[in-house]
Amino acid sequence: MIIAIDGPAASGKGTLARRLAAHFNLPHLDTGLLYRATARALLDQGAKLDDAEKAVSSARGLALLDFDEDRLRGREMGEAASVVAAIREVRAALIDMQRAFAARKNGAVLDGRDIGTVIAPDADVKIFVTASPEARAQRRALELRGRGEKVDYAAILEDIVKRDRRDSERADAPLKPAADAHVLDTTDLNVEAAFAAALAMVEAARV
Ligand code: C5P
Repeated sequence: MIIAIDGPAASGKGTLARRLAAHFNLPHLDTGLLYRATARALLDQGAKLDDAEKAVSSARGLALLDFDEDRLRGREMGEAASVVAAIREVRAALIDMQRAFAARKNGAVLDGRDIGTVIAPDADVKIFVTASPEARAQRRALELRGRGEKVDYAAILEDIVKRDRRDSERADAPLKPAADAHVLDTTDLNVEAAFAAALAMVEAARV
């Protein structure tokens, strides 16, 4: 069974994807990490984020070693990833590895922006997770505060709105729900309620 989870920044799609993967005992790929690692590799070389040639060779050269989440998770890396992710050739360079992951024997859970539309259009179930920008900024702020970081709610909200815009307006594989995706709005749901709703969507698709 292939489960495709898409949605905007800080929508909670990663948490849902991880929990669904654990529940169904499936491997999980957070595809945002591929774009973050590509951006990180560019910055580490001192290259510009819009240098398409270097970006493509960074994307092609990704190795497991590059997925040091501590260096990829920060706010700046999300922003940098979305610049790199708008380069068509970078997306093309990352397609095969994502499709290979989706094609694993027992299936997989992938989360990102274009899983249901481009990477796995034949997924058994597609969930588009969303929430208001304010709710997402609030959650991100709580998460950062929990990690002991200083929090500027207005800056976080601004980031989220800017990243939504860049991801939705790019020409190649823009962020949007697949025509056959179930939309899950988690604005008024806590983690447990969101998981229960997602699980019901998957169970309904299995019968
Ligand atoms: O999901 P995450 O916040 O880690 O993604 C970082 C950025 O990577 C997104 O803002 C988006 O621009 C890009 N991305 C993408 N397609 C995916 C996953 C992430 O374009 N499947």
